[in-house]
Amino acid sequence: MSAQASSGKHTPLRILVTGGAGFVGSHLCDRLIARGDHVVCLDNLFTGSRDNIAHLLDHPNFQFVNHDVNHPIFIPVDQIYNLACPASPIHYQYDPVMTVRTNVLGAINMLDLAKRTGARVMQASTSEVYGDPEVHPQVETYWGKVNPIGPRACYDEGKRCAETLFFDSFRQDGVDIKVVRIFNTYGPRMAINDGRVVSNFVVQALTNQPITIYGEGQQTRSFCYVDDLVEGFIRMMATPAGFTGPVNLGNPNEFTILELAQLTIDQIGSASPIERKPLPQDDPRQRQPDISLAKASLDWEPRTQLKEGLAKTIAHFAALLGKGLAETER
Ligand code: NAD
Ligand code: UDP
Repeated sequence: MSAQASSGKHTPLRILVTGGAGFVGSHLCDRLIARGDHVVCLDNLFTGSRDNIAHLLDHPNFQFVNHDVNHPIFIPVDQIYNLACPASPIHYQYDPVMTVRTNVLGAINMLDLAKRTGARVMQASTSEVYGDPEVHPQVETYWGKVNPIGPRACYDEGKRCAETLFFDSFRQDGVDIKVVRIFNTYGPRMAINDGRVVSNFVVQALTNQPITIYGEGQQTRSFCYVDDLVEGFIRMMATPAGFTGPVNLGNPNEFTILELAQLTIDQIGSASPIERKPLPQDDPRQRQPDISLAKASLDWEPRTQLKEGLAKTIAHFAALLGKGLAETER
């Protein structure tokens, strides 16, 4: 069975979450604080926001540190979740050299910290390591098909190099590593200007603006609700030393982008028209996780399906945009 930590008595740990003020990181901080851990949330607020952690700032077990992972830091901790990195294409392509630095130097600095403190360290890797995949669904043993010189490479290759650093530190220095490969995750607290597809479509549909479909909309993604992902993180972190992964975490239910657009429009009852925009270069045509390994080793699978998760995400953005739910739930 998995190392499901939530059922038994939990001994509080001191945990560093880099990127903790971001979308996924802030949900992880919530979950750890609720479990009784002491959380140091480290973030330079590049794409994250104080709003995401405002409710935690006065909690005695929570500390926010404004810091860039490109610079070394020493904080005595038991565990490190390394999430610091812009995740949306528009943000990671804004300063691509910085994105590579954040991935590579961030990994080096967190691995150094783990080495000095003996902490266990988990890397938030990505399905983007598979690039535009020729193997479908994607299994962890697939090495991927990434264009190393294209506009997505700063993120994809940055994350691939971070995985390399993690596995070399494991083999060379015995660092206690875990690597998860995250597939498209969505939910409340995505930034309104995040630029990824779910938040774009929900905001566009709520405001009756055109839904921007890049290309024909026949490309596919498989969408995981954030609470499911965080549960996967916790379970992965609780596996025995030596179980490194990489493990795919995602929801295997696959949708075309056109289907997502239609579902969002229908669920909101929006009058938004569909507008076609050019397909970005190297945009992966299909993506679906094979989660056999996560099922077997973590006893994990997603519980929230798209319709339910979308409803929660719509409620979040409706509140942010000052729209009553009655207005949006027709
Ligand atoms: P996000 O942009 O909301 O969060 C990233 C956080 O990292 C932000 O708070 C940002 O301010 C912080 N950050 C960026 N550069 C930093 C730096 N140099 N120093 C310190 N902090 C820095 O994105 P997210 O969706 O929450 O993603 C979190 C992590 O999960 C990222 O590493 C991302 O690559 C990974 N991931 C996410 C998804 C997904 O679908 N959400 C998929 C694959 C991988
Ligand atoms: N996409 C789209 N309209 C948008 C934003 C994204 O059609 O407004 C498409 C994008 O081209 C890609 C898919 O949706 O095929 C998922 O994009 P996202 O940026 O969310 O994630 P990623 O491409 O990194 O999986």
